[in-house]
Amino acid sequence: MRGRVSDDRDKVELYLSLGSNQGDRRKNIEDAISLLNIDLGTPFKRVSSLIETEPWGFESDDKFINAVVMYELELPKGYNPEAEGLMILEICKDIERKLGRTGTPQYDEKGDRIYTSRPIDIDILLFGDNKIDCEELTVPHKLMYEREFVMEPLKEISSDK
Ligand code: ADP
Ligand code: MG
Repeated sequence: MRGRVSDDRDKVELYLSLGSNQGDRRKNIEDAISLLNIDLGTPFKRVSSLIETEPWGFESDDKFINAVVMYELELPKGYNPEAEGLMILEICKDIERKLGRTGTPQYDEKGDRIYTSRPIDIDILLFGDNKIDCEELTVPHKLMYEREFVMEPLKEISSDK
């Protein structure tokens, strides 16, 4: 029956932010997207322009290239957002490692993040309307609204304009 297959599935928009300020920055972003297409099981639906930005939260001469990419995932109705979100986070972290990112997040004595240069950073910005707040994952991304380098490309490809 037509439409039957998709009746038990939800279409969910996933927005990811990509950033690179080490190595071949454009290639890192492109490679990350190619790997995401494979691991998320679907080609991306929209991608923003690549923009060059100053480091945020730390000093460096190495500017970033940033972009936002959107995937439309088909998930079973009644899926568990936290479990699904954590799986997506694992995919992102795995690709970060494949593209040469090493180490774990560092914090100063006040407990604030110490940001450093990286070949690739992949963050989950939005995952449908889901709100997730667990130890490893907060969605919508906690700092996205104060980061111009996220909001500008996000607005460029956002569905709700
Ligand atoms: P940043 O992206 O802030 O430069 P990292 O990429 O090192 O820092 O991420 C630090 C931690 O933030 C990750 O280990 C991850 O568990 C956590 N985290 C919480 N929310 C998110 C999110 N929405 N997207 C990506 N990582 C997140
Ligand atoms: Mg990150």
